[in-house]
Amino acid sequence: MNFVPALIDEMHPLELKGEVSAEVLGLNEPAARGEQPILAELLVQKEGDDFLVTGWLQTTLSLLCGRCAVWFPWPVRTQVEHLFEAPHPSGIDLTPFIREDILLELPLNAACRLGADGRCPVTGEFYQPRPETSGSLASGEVWEALSKIKTKD
Ligand SMILES: [Zn+2]
Repeated sequence: MNFVPALIDEMHPLELKGEVSAEVLGLNEPAARGEQPILAELLVQKEGDDFLVTGWLQTTLSLLCGRCAVWFPWPVRTQVEHLFEAPHPSGIDLTPFIREDILLELPLNAACRLGADGRCPVTGEFYQPRPETSGSLASGEVWEALSKIKTKD
């Protein structure tokens, strides 16, 4: 997806609508894949010597759930706003910006969203929320740290 700056003036913004192949993402990681096309609806406006590209991108990535180790869909819809400042090349390729905008929507830790009952929507397995009064190592360490503070007083 690209545009030619010389063909756009203030009075005539350029609408770019269409599908971009998932290949531009180059996303084929052990825990993240991009296979669905990216729907793009962009508007290129000339503002003085600059060009402002706004709109949105939408696709569905596949992520590996860190909790259940199954692939689940990760819908992405992101706003686009890029300013291209003069001087301009004869053609501006938006593909790297589309790639960046989509990849920024990847979560740091992928895990499917559990239902209100703690059920994984993909595997159907139940995950109990950790009880607040559990004697887990973490909370034990917290109490130990607290007791150390108290004995200092
Ligand atoms: Zn899961």
